Amino acid sequence: MTPSSKPTCQVAGAYHFAVADIVVTALNDAMFGCTGDFFRLRDRNSKKRAGGKAQGDLSDRAAAANSQCVPVASVHMSERLVLVDSGCASIFGPELGLLQANLAAIGVRPEDIDTILMTHLHPDHVGGLVNGSGQAVFPNAELVTHADKQAYWSDPKVLADAAEGHARQWVQLTLSSLAAYRKRSRIVIGSKSGISAVPEPGHTPGHTGWLLASGTETLVICGDIVHLHGIQFVHPGTGMSIVDVDSAQAVVTHRRIVDMAATDRLRAAGMHLDFPSFSRCARWRSLRICAEPWRSL
Ligand SMILES: [Zn+2]
Repeated sequence: MTPSSKPTCQVAGAYHFAVADIVVTALNDAMFGCTGDFFRLRDRNSKKRAGGKAQGDLSDRAAAANSQCVPVASVHMSERLVLVDSGCASIFGPELGLLQANLAAIGVRPEDIDTILMTHLHPDHVGGLVNGSGQAVFPNAELVTHADKQAYWSDPKVLADAAEGHARQWVQLTLSSLAAYRKRSRIVIGSKSGISAVPEPGHTPGHTGWLLASGTETLVICGDIVHLHGIQFVHPGTGMSIVDVDSAQAVVTHRRIVDMAATDRLRAAGMHLDFPSFSRCARWRSLRICAEPWRSL
């Protein structure tokens, strides 16, 4: 490339963030447009907003304001290399699924990962676990999930109730991902080595945040308690009727986790916050989210 050539692609989508002795790296797996109609926004505080024109207003704002980013986090701890979720691979488009390229960019091979912590088992989080043949992409990794997730997805009713097409394919993807790691899977049982599970029910049964603590610093990786931060922090009663299994409970969880992050001064990261997603929650008239500025390690 000559100095005058225009760049045609971004550099690697990876950003390191230190939590005392732990280094957490946000890896950009995908960015795709998504409208409010997809989420079917639901405001439990106002019957008026839940339908008709007001619902349309919220949806329009979501469509205008939102693209869904799917970051994945890798966590370097002493003698451990942990992945949190696995991104969507190419499920939502052939140009997506940048996890492997971005792992390579930071010098990590799939076989280096020893643990994968799952926030939940939706397709944009399990898509990178298996290849096209249904085999485990991370051959040495133990898959850690919540018991309620396993029970929910293993219930034959979930597959039977899934409509044909994408919904059915996505349930089958989750089941094949669990099968590929069956011999190396573990149910969450309390905290271990600076990592502990935070129950976050609502989005799916067993939806789990992960609390990483080192020294006096703590980061909570929240998973999917927020999809549209531009709307859900302005209207914290907004749930998602399509993607939340229990949107009323998801709203309660959103408020609890954000309140905890603000009160305890935790750093927060989420799978659908804008890349690289590291943020602080703060109270100023209402609960707000403030992206962390760039900083060196
Ligand atoms: Zn998601």
